[in-house]
Amino acid sequence: MKDGAMQPFGLTLEKFLDHAAKWHPNTEIVTATDGGKVARIGYADLHARAHRVSAVLAGLGVAFGEHVATLAWNTQAHMEAWYGTMGMGAVCHTLNPRLTAEQLAEMIAQSGARILVASADLLSLAAEIAELSPSLCHVLVIDGSKDGWRSDSADAAELETLITATHVKADWGQFDENAPCGLCFTSGTTGAPKGVTYTHRSSYLHTLRLLQADVIGLTSADVVLPVVPMFHANAWGLPFAAPAAGSRLVLPGRQADGESLAQLIMREGVTVAVGVPTVWVGLADYLDRTGGEVPSLKRIIVGGAAMPPALMERIERRLGAMVQTSWGMTELSPSGTFAPPADPDRAPHRSGRPAVGVDLLITDADGKPVPNQRGDEGHLRVRGAAVIERYFGHDKPATDQNGWFDTGDLARIDHEGNLTITGRSKDLIKSGGEWINPAEIEAVIGAIPEVSFAAVIGRSDEKWGERPVLLVEMREAEGMTDEALLGALNGHVASWWVPDEVVRLNEMPLAATGKVDKIRLRLEYGGN
Ligand code: ADP
Repeated sequence: MKDGAMQPFGLTLEKFLDHAAKWHPNTEIVTATDGGKVARIGYADLHARAHRVSAVLAGLGVAFGEHVATLAWNTQAHMEAWYGTMGMGAVCHTLNPRLTAEQLAEMIAQSGARILVASADLLSLAAEIAELSPSLCHVLVIDGSKDGWRSDSADAAELETLITATHVKADWGQFDENAPCGLCFTSGTTGAPKGVTYTHRSSYLHTLRLLQADVIGLTSADVVLPVVPMFHANAWGLPFAAPAAGSRLVLPGRQADGESLAQLIMREGVTVAVGVPTVWVGLADYLDRTGGEVPSLKRIIVGGAAMPPALMERIERRLGAMVQTSWGMTELSPSGTFAPPADPDRAPHRSGRPAVGVDLLITDADGKPVPNQRGDEGHLRVRGAAVIERYFGHDKPATDQNGWFDTGDLARIDHEGNLTITGRSKDLIKSGGEWINPAEIEAVIGAIPEVSFAAVIGRSDEKWGERPVLLVEMREAEGMTDEALLGALNGHVASWWVPDEVVRLNEMPLAATGKVDKIRLRLEYGGN
């Protein structure tokens, strides 16, 4: 007897937008534009326009599997470019505008992109990149005019004009689910950025994981604000998850300052906002200054860096929103673990459990599993359906012989299975032959309400090899003395871990994805 069969339904990403266009046609994507104004479009219209972007790209000769680069903020036009690219089987290579032209040109040299979709306010950076990138020949300008284009290295056209002139219907999704859909370089907080290739299947499965109730659990009643940029690990997958769930999507454009975010949240009734911890400082400051309220906001989802306890307490008290912590990285598409929204024991250091599709392993420095997987600290490895196997352009796998990827993070899993990131192996400071973990010192100092940001780095030292230095940005210039700051460490860390010096900064330098820029701090204060 012949077996029956189920339909071969390829797990490709354009299906999320197809779904939203059909079942949530009028649900809006709202984009902040200049002067506090917004632009609105429904999923059905966005779907139609994204198809026309595919037709424009096909007209420029874009082939299946070709990389199309984007240099843009979180906007409707950027989202149309994404789906237009991925829907036709081309690969969207997102670029981080906060990096230098040289760094970005180096990434384009790797992907070989011929086309760059660029935001009008980034045209001078785009021109610098074009000068350094022989492969690049067309710049498609979005979110403004091409008037600022001054370069002969590539031609520039406004994507809007090309879309308007196109009446061809592009075909979407006629390819294998294992085809690549995106290329994103790691943010390079500790080393040179490396390219991570996502596939349709991996990002599709990642989206289904995000939509679980213990993860991000969006519903069609939610209004989602991804402050995390689309160039930072695909805005953590929200441009896929929002249409999949039929949620309203609010895109902040380039403005991530406290006032702009507060206005958007208030006007659009945002229920869930997502971003690295540092962006919420500005929002809390603005609300403190103006006495404003954001009653619609139910949840703020943070990840990408440790959540300072004082900030978590401040956000929950001042904004009345629950902070949901998570851990992830570019190589994981990016979500690894999430603290469930309803977790009564939520705490800034607890990043929750993995949802089905990712698994965690604690090992020693050589990659051997530690016997006690609950309670003991070690090196964190992961494997799963949306976890890297090999970096872009590399021959060797990024995984060990058992398929585990070494995250470079240090972690502990408690008896309930909750993950706590305890540091990064590359950040450790070696003093007198013993390791000091800056993350543990930062956690104590970061819990002091007067402290906005704290970072600990190693400074070269003739006698000890390295000694820790504490860098702080205080909320108010007056206040705690250095002795009082360091005194807070008594009883929390060994006395030889206490930093030798406190440096006060007016502004903590932030790296391209909004995290504390330890590379720069080491250059300026590491004495190397
Ligand atoms: P980069 O490695 O260049 O910073 P990513 O943006 O991919 O690039 O960041 C991933 C890293 O961010 C993780 O390896 C981890 O060190 C850090 N991170 C992410 N989430 C957390 C968290 N909840 N607590 C502490 N660190 C975190």
